[in-house]
Amino acid sequence: MSQFWSQRTRELDPYTPGEQPKDTQYIKLNTNENPYPPSPKALAAIKAEASADLRLYSDPNSDDLKQAIAEFYNVEQAQVFVGNGSDEVLAHTFVALLKQNKPLLYPDISYSFYPVYSKLFGIDAKTIPLDQRFEINIDDYTVPNGGIIFPNPNAPTGIALPLEKIETMLQANPDSAVVVDEAYVDFGAETAISLINQYDNLLVIQTFSKSRSLAGLRVGFAVGNSNLIEGLERVKNSFNSYPLGRMDIAGAAASIRDVSYFQQTCQQIALTREQVSSKLSEMGFEVLPSSANFIFAKPCGVSAESLYLSLKEQGVLVRYFAYPRISDYLRITIGTDDEMQTFLQKIEGILA
Ligand SMILES: *Cc1c(COP(=O)(O)O)cnc(C)c1O
Repeated sequence: MSQFWSQRTRELDPYTPGEQPKDTQYIKLNTNENPYPPSPKALAAIKAEASADLRLYSDPNSDDLKQAIAEFYNVEQAQVFVGNGSDEVLAHTFVALLKQNKPLLYPDISYSFYPVYSKLFGIDAKTIPLDQRFEINIDDYTVPNGGIIFPNPNAPTGIALPLEKIETMLQANPDSAVVVDEAYVDFGAETAISLINQYDNLLVIQTFSKSRSLAGLRVGFAVGNSNLIEGLERVKNSFNSYPLGRMDIAGAAASIRDVSYFQQTCQQIALTREQVSSKLSEMGFEVLPSSANFIFAKPCGVSAESLYLSLKEQGVLVRYFAYPRISDYLRITIGTDDEMQTFLQKIEGILA
């Protein structure tokens, strides 16, 4: 605490990212990073940008990247917004669309950045409990609100909400922005981008960090009605005109244009996820049905916290949340088949 801190700074409750240890070589199954490298085409594009041209500012509008995203999703470039990681896109969304006179709604168990942004931007938020099965019940989102946000698939549960239910929610809330955070959608859920031309209140946010193996590049994007996008651009241009560097723009554009590499790695992760889920179920774990690149599971015969600690001691990092309702569960990121083999062997050893 410093006397120079503003009142707002004193009151903040910052987000705590998963551990990124710099000492031991861990098998990292704790921050939902992709175990496979980025597309070789993305790496080549990034290297090509490491030139004398870095003395020049990047394109403030990231037009080539927006064009590549628009082509991939068959939307207009004016329906695409890009930012420095989807966390930044989310921050601009909170300011541009979700700070209203009525409360913002999001699930009680969800991405823990939402309460952090609500506090930072002075947004009144109301959490809506997931049901007994940790699912979003759309009927609970019909109360008066100034906006709705949720991840789909949800984090850290991995459970996906079907597109028909999202559509019902959009119809029930025509006067609120409904924001779907699709950080994990490519691993097995259906994107809501197909609905943006029908619903002017829908904003879909995605990231290159998970399904495109570019967490270290920091690129995220939003797709929605051009009026929503214009609102985001107004906030972005009041904050940072050049959120993406030359290497970010080139790498992300090459990545989204490499469709076959993307599909192949996503499929592999989904396959590994199903195999690991069955193994954990056989061991007596309660495994939630995941459509993401992680599994949320309740161990059997040992507490989640002690299993987390034992695994860490043996060089495997998973994520444990000491939060209400979920402190009996671990979130396990899907790694390579070899990494998951080691993970399962360590668990067998610990439980024996
Ligand atoms: C990882 C994640 C993000 C943020 O990703 P960026 O790396 O900032 O693009 C956003 N939402 C959810 C639910 C996430 O899990």
